Amino acid sequence: QDKAWIFMVRTKCPGGALTASQYLSLDKLSDSVGNGTLRITTRQGIQLHGVVFRGLHRCISSIIASGIHTWGACGDIVRNVVAPPSPIKDGAHDELQKLALSISNTFLSKSKAYTEIWINNIPVEYESAQESSVEEEPIYGKVYLPRKFKIGFAIPPRNDVDIYSQDLGFVAHVSGTTIEGFTVLVGGSHGMTHGVVKTYPKLAVPLFYIPKEKLTETAIAIVTMHRDFGNREDRKRARLKYLIDEKGIDWFRSEVVQRLSFSPESPKHFSFTTVADSLGWHPQGDGKYFLGIRIENGRIADLPSLPIRSILRSIIEDYQPSIRLTPNANILLCDIDEDKKEKIGKILLENRLFPLSPKTAARNLAHACVALPTCGLALAESERVFSKIMDQLEDILKELGLEKEEILFRMSGCPNGCSRPYNADISFVGRAPNRYALFVGGSTAGDRLASLQKRVVDINDIPAVVREYLEDFVRNRRHEESFSQYWHRINPNCEQSFPQNFHME
Ligand code: SF4
Repeated sequence: QDKAWIFMVRTKCPGGALTASQYLSLDKLSDSVGNGTLRITTRQGIQLHGVVFRGLHRCISSIIASGIHTWGACGDIVRNVVAPPSPIKDGAHDELQKLALSISNTFLSKSKAYTEIWINNIPVEYESAQESSVEEEPIYGKVYLPRKFKIGFAIPPRNDVDIYSQDLGFVAHVSGTTIEGFTVLVGGSHGMTHGVVKTYPKLAVPLFYIPKEKLTETAIAIVTMHRDFGNREDRKRARLKYLIDEKGIDWFRSEVVQRLSFSPESPKHFSFTTVADSLGWHPQGDGKYFLGIRIENGRIADLPSLPIRSILRSIIEDYQPSIRLTPNANILLCDIDEDKKEKIGKILLENRLFPLSPKTAARNLAHACVALPTCGLALAESERVFSKIMDQLEDILKELGLEKEEILFRMSGCPNGCSRPYNADISFVGRAPNRYALFVGGSTAGDRLASLQKRVVDINDIPAVVREYLEDFVRNRRHEESFSQYWHRINPNCEQSFPQNFHME
């Protein structure tokens, strides 16, 4: 009977920050109540898969006992707040981690239900649920938001949180070691439905610049705009991007400004160079080091070829590093003393756990969503097939001399786009079993949308189809031109047919 009630449990940890003991507690839970694996999410949380009903309470209450929680990791509410994961001690990175936590706390639901159910273990009864419905949330009101709402922070030039995919993005402007303010971006989101032209991915656009002190006030003004004006009739059109498109960015800005106690300035200039994580060893700036380890599709599992979960557990138990999960679903082991570096490096080498792909730069960026068998929305495989596809693509990249090229490949099992496929260089989006839509033309800086190139590609044809694009690139690229730059040069108008460039029915 339990098999009919299998759950996914997702943690909410702003900025991806975990202590060693929190990580180890999740690792233990994955054995006692999960399927023996941990899945890092693209919002810097961890998912436990295969949690059966009888283990659910133990799972969530144990997570809470470890000092983190799952409160608002799902639902029509502000989701986990993402922030640059690198523990660089330059003032700004640490400050953004604190601000991510503070904004996350601002938007935590005030309902008592979570603590009553998962901490106090009070059974939910219809009568008491009716009574609690008269409580009103100070920000969310009686009916919460029309849909989920994603907030992120970024520090140029590294766009490692994919800031343009957030409903609300804060791009930090740093002077010396201090964050002075933020350019605010609004209306990013990847989800769409194949063939439904009223749905499309959208990159966030600049709204205005605010001083740092006005961060919380601004975030509340924008989230409540979504609450008050978001579409509650048509769930497919309920994200903030559609409100902004329907009413226009000028209308949106003027409504937000009316909710503020100050006058924001025009957006400031910034630019990003990459969405990549800092993998490998890096100094933090305080005499310590962090180690970024690539986790294939975010899945921490003991595979016969590579017992990565056991290796990580053993390193974390012995060296107690603090942990950061990245929005690219990798893991950073932080605060490591110089004299421990060599020992940890030796463990990695002995176990053939390379922080970076030994074959191609593209593999370090590549990512696939969970999809089958865990995700009920999947139309096609993603994580379970992507590694094999990347093996084939890596062979092609090597053959064409492109092993050092940072080309961004992503795959999703359905058009909801949890792996953020629509701003990748080349991506595959599931339509049906073994059938994928092919998108090409995003960028490794995450600042451009791809467009639909082929409506359907059979999974077995993916390597040959991609080879054609890569061969054209090799033939026609200019000196040191990246795939992202090359594609934009030969398709200068690739974004002008929006939103039809996502549909071809
Ligand atoms: Fe599931 Fe679709 Fe998200 Fe993949 S993109 S995890 S299939 S909802």
